[in-house]
Amino acid sequence: MEVKIYTSPTCFHCKDLIKKLNDNNIKFENIFTDTLKSEEIDYLIQEAKTSSLPIITLNNRFVSEEELFEIIPFFIEDTKINKIIRCHDCDKELTLNNEGEIIDGKLLKYEKDENKFIDVYKCNECFNTDHSLRNYQETEVYSRVVGYIRPVNQWNDGKAEEFKVRKTFDMEKVIDR
Ligand SMILES: [Zn+2]
Repeated sequence: MEVKIYTSPTCFHCKDLIKKLNDNNIKFENIFTDTLKSEEIDYLIQEAKTSSLPIITLNNRFVSEEELFEIIPFFIEDTKINKIIRCHDCDKELTLNNEGEIIDGKLLKYEKDENKFIDVYKCNECFNTDHSLRNYQETEVYSRVVGYIRPVNQWNDGKAEEFKVRKTFDMEKVIDR
């Protein structure tokens, strides 16, 4: 995760942002706009679609301060190894050791396209019953992102992480109440 901020020493919003980033232990690169050439500033204003500071980029994408703090927790979550891995066949949660290796299951590589592999896991029981991977087909999921309906696998990393924590509800049950 790479956070860059463009600030000015005299801007109060910038000072607030720097404090907030430091308070949250978020590493960032601070660039004072008065060290930039005028064409660099022009480019910045054009790309960020704003001339008010601070201007922020996350992995080279311009984001608002609000967006930044909305997305960041998902990146931090992502760097931890405590991901939950489930068996493809029975959905049982598999146990990982400290190195992130599976203790009670097997990793099967599914070749999606040429040289593009997807990790699929089986628990030992299911693997011993059937070594092959069956009924594996990727599903294209569409959902709403910033006002548009787009396939989830085309979303940027932050939004894709946000999708995982979305809660769905049954409309009929809601209407029944
Ligand atoms: Zn299983």
